[in-house]
Amino acid sequence: MHILLMGPPGAGKGTQAAELVKAFDIPHISTGDMFRAAVKEGTELGKQAKACMDAGKLVPDSVTIGIVRERLAKDDCKKGFILDGFPRTVEQADALTGILKDLGLTLTRVLNISVPAEDLIERAVGRRICKKCGATYHTKFNPPKKEGICDVCGSELFQRADDTAETMKNRLSVYEASTKPLIDYYKAAGVYTEVDGRQPIEKVTQDLIEVLKA
Ligand SMILES: [Zn+2]
Repeated sequence: MHILLMGPPGAGKGTQAAELVKAFDIPHISTGDMFRAAVKEGTELGKQAKACMDAGKLVPDSVTIGIVRERLAKDDCKKGFILDGFPRTVEQADALTGILKDLGLTLTRVLNISVPAEDLIERAVGRRICKKCGATYHTKFNPPKKEGICDVCGSELFQRADDTAETMKNRLSVYEASTKPLIDYYKAAGVYTEVDGRQPIEKVTQDLIEVLKA
């Protein structure tokens, strides 16, 4: 089960990845985790990545792709993986195809948790978080019993500064522009499936699992 998981910010990708890990007992490999692990292990590529990040520079593709290659070659990926956050460009997608070919693998499926921009904006704008315990609420979909107060610990709720319609609109348009070519790439490869991310969390999980088992 070699899966690529995609989805716009706020679509619940992290939650769904955790469910797929449970369902298929395969590792969830996010770009962030991969970088942190390579830096911590002090691999040659990890050192190069760290030098770039410390200097505030973008990590070059050659380093990123090398780190992905090393990660996917590890034993725990033999029976599968859920890759998340890579590739971000068609060039990287080509590189991934090459890496998998070298490992004798192919992508089982590219899953995109699809949620329309207006829904994601509504989700973000109504999100409220407890200052003390971090519990999250939504003014419309999951309101606290008492407005502005946490059900769990009684502390005040707040809205994150970037949970505004304007910020979300910008993030989503950047995401859509960069993702469109990747979607076309994987559609052409015949491995792309979209799952409706507007459904309840459990139903989204169920749909993802059904696609993978089909
Ligand atoms: Zn609380």
